[in-house]
Amino acid sequence: MTQQPAPLHLNTPLLRAAPGLFPQAEVWLKMDALQPSGSFKLRGVGRLVQQAAAEGAREIVCASGGNAGFAAAHAALALGLAVTIVLPESSSAAVAEKIAARGATVLRHGAMFDEANAFAQALAAERGARYVHPFDHPLLWAGHSTLIDEVQAEGLDFDAVITAVGGGGLFCGIVQGLQRHGLHHVPVIAVETLGADSLSQSLRAGQAITLPAITSVATSLGARRVADEALRLAQSHPTLSLTVTDAQATQACVRFADAMRVMVEPACGAALAALSVHAPALAGFKRPLVEVCGGIGVSLALLQAWA
Ligand SMILES: *Cc1c(COP(=O)(O)O)cnc(C)c1O
Repeated sequence: MTQQPAPLHLNTPLLRAAPGLFPQAEVWLKMDALQPSGSFKLRGVGRLVQQAAAEGAREIVCASGGNAGFAAAHAALALGLAVTIVLPESSSAAVAEKIAARGATVLRHGAMFDEANAFAQALAAERGARYVHPFDHPLLWAGHSTLIDEVQAEGLDFDAVITAVGGGGLFCGIVQGLQRHGLHHVPVIAVETLGADSLSQSLRAGQAITLPAITSVATSLGARRVADEALRLAQSHPTLSLTVTDAQATQACVRFADAMRVMVEPACGAALAALSVHAPALAGFKRPLVEVCGGIGVSLALLQAWA
């Protein structure tokens, strides 16, 4: 077996939530908003880009709502690879600018992620570049799972993990991490915004559902269909699927910024909002861990508008 190179992501702080931020007395926060890529995505995307570099790739192509692209740009730059990010029209101009500022070529294609993704795959094939999927790859999940390794190494005795779900890559990584540490009994609270609730609808239907459209402001959760592995794990690992509204998610971002002095985007606000919105359903958990997934799609101006 070849040795893993040092990861590109940081071991992020594990903080106790400020008193009064949540109805629960003790909530722990895994602060992945503080990754150099602004979100957890560098954990998995960094792994994929490192593997591509080790196999001789010269160029990376990634389709993304924003944060996977930003992470891919960060990783590619660190390893000296060329990188092209394909964004759908639904991603903001500010996000496109932030990615371009990292030295990536930014292209726009399609109204939503699926079209951008198909275009990115074709482009990578045409150019002989390495295509990086933002949520559906086993090595990506292994990279994301390191967040659980870090929490375990700190010795925290948590009794649930609360996470936002888009395409389900983060969810797969969390479940993989829990199971690797023998925590098969620790449930994952999988939170989506209404309008981006592909996992919730799939679980209710008992099969993968493709949403006709994404209508939530939480564009980082905007996968019309989750990875098959995410649905499989949600049906086999103890999982509670919850939804919140866009307004609840953005409100949670404002409250979090005030209390913890860190800005996160609505995708992350969804997970934070669940603690208040679904407090009765979560009453059985005494020490929940929240994956503060972060996101670059936030600014002071946006927070002010949400407030
Ligand atoms: C990508 C992303 C998510 C969703 O992750 P998936 O692996 O697609 O489920 C949630 N929050 C933020 C900030 C993200 O960038």
